[in-house]
Amino acid sequence: MEPPSRRDHAVRALLAHGLLTDDQPLAALLDLRSVQETTAALHAAFDAVTAPGQPVLHTFAVKAGTLVPVLRLLDGFGIGSEVASPGELALARRAGLAPDRIVLDSPAKTEAELREALRLGIAMNADNPQELARLDALVPEHPGHGPVGLRINPQLGGGTIDAMSTATATSKFGVALRDPGARDWVVRAFLDRPWLTRLHCHVGSQGMALARMAEGVRESYELAEEINAAAGERRIDTLDIGGGLPVNFDSDEITPGFAEYARLLRDTVPGLFDGRYGLVTEFGRSLLAKAGAVVARVEYTKEAGGRPIAVTHAGAQVAVRTVFAPASWPLRVAVYDAKGAPSAEPAVRQDVAGPCCFAGDLVAIDRPLPRLRPGDVVALLDTGAYYFSTPFGYNALPRPAVYGFTVDGTGPAVFTPLRRAQTLEELVEESGGSL
Ligand SMILES: *Cc1c(COP(=O)(O)O)cnc(C)c1O
Repeated sequence: MEPPSRRDHAVRALLAHGLLTDDQPLAALLDLRSVQETTAALHAAFDAVTAPGQPVLHTFAVKAGTLVPVLRLLDGFGIGSEVASPGELALARRAGLAPDRIVLDSPAKTEAELREALRLGIAMNADNPQELARLDALVPEHPGHGPVGLRINPQLGGGTIDAMSTATATSKFGVALRDPGARDWVVRAFLDRPWLTRLHCHVGSQGMALARMAEGVRESYELAEEINAAAGERRIDTLDIGGGLPVNFDSDEITPGFAEYARLLRDTVPGLFDGRYGLVTEFGRSLLAKAGAVVARVEYTKEAGGRPIAVTHAGAQVAVRTVFAPASWPLRVAVYDAKGAPSAEPAVRQDVAGPCCFAGDLVAIDRPLPRLRPGDVVALLDTGAYYFSTPFGYNALPRPAVYGFTVDGTGPAVFTPLRRAQTLEELVEESGGSL
C-alpha cells in the first residue's frame, strides 16, 4: 500500500470535520502547497533560461480559477492575472492586484472596457483591426495607459481537441497572420502606432503539442524582429507568449513540466532569451489542475442492464467538459469509504453518475473502480482548473464550497475557505427570486 497522499489526508479531514453533509454533499479541495510548488517551478523554469535582468511577468489565466482568494494567493507567489472579461477584471481587482500585474485579453472588449483598461493603466492585447481602430481614438485621451499589444494567430493548425485550438486557419482569435496581406498590415499597424509595443500569441490549450506551441512563439518573435527592423528601433519591447501547457490527467505525475517547456522555447527561439524583450506568460490549467479535487458523496448505487451505477453529487454542474466531451476530458476517480479511507473493495466496472437530470450526466463510464456503496466518497482528480470554478447552472444545483488545504507531515489537514457554498436563498435570488 502506498502511504496516504496529502489529498488522502484532506479527504479524511473533510469528513472528520463534517464538511460533507446532506446539505452540502459536494465540495472542492485545493492543495495550497501544491499550488506553491507549481508556481515555484514556473519561476525557476524561466529563471533558468532568461538573461539576467530580463523582465518576466507570469500571469494566471483567471478563467481557469475564478476565485478571489486564489488570485490573491497566486499574486503572493509572484503570479499576476490575465483577465478576459469585466468579471474577471473585477475579481483580480478585488484580489488586490496592482494594475501592472494584470493583462487584459478578450476578443470582444466593449468600448467601455477599453476605456476602463486604459484608465486603470493595465496592459491589454487588441484582438483585431476594428479594436485597434477604436484604440486609435481612445489612447490619446488616456496618457497614463498601460502597454498595448496586438494578438496574432500564426495559423499553425490545431491540437487534438478542436475546441481548445486557437491557431487554426479559421480561429476567431487574433489577426490571422497568413491570410493575404495580413503580415504587411500588421507591420504597418505597428509603424503607424508608437504606443503599440507588444505582440501576443496563445496557440492553444490542452491537447496542443509543445513543439507547436514553441513554433507559435517563434513566429511571434520573428515578426517582432521584422517590425523592429522596419521601425529602426525597439518598437516591440515585450512578447506575451500566452499559456497552454497541457496537463497529464492520467497520474499524479506532473508532466510535461514548465522546465521542459522553457528549455524547448530556448532551443526553438534562442533570441527570446537574450534579454532584448520582456516576457509575459499566461498559464492557467498547468498552474492549478493537479492541485484540485472535486469530492462528492455517493447517494445511491444501483444496477441497470447489468451495469453497476453509482449516483453521486458530482456531475455536469462541476465537470461540464468531462460530461459533454468525455473522450477529450477523462478524469481519474479516487474512491474512499464513508470515513475517508481509501476504499479496499475489489474493482468492478461501473458508471459514476452525477445528480443532473439527463442521461449523459456521467463522470466515468464502465470504469473499473472499487465497488461503490452508498455513503462512500468519490474524488474527481486533477480538477483544480476549469472545473469547480467553472460551474454549469443546470438543475439549479448550488455551487459547492471550495476549501484550500495544507497538510503538515502526518497531521490533519487544515482548511482555508476559498469559496462558501452557495445557499439556496442566494440561488433563488440570482434566479430572479425578488423580481
Ligand atoms: C485560456 C487562455 C490562456 C490559458 O490557457 P491554459 O491552457 O489554461 O494555460 C492563456 N491565454 C489566453 C489568451 C487564453 O485564452
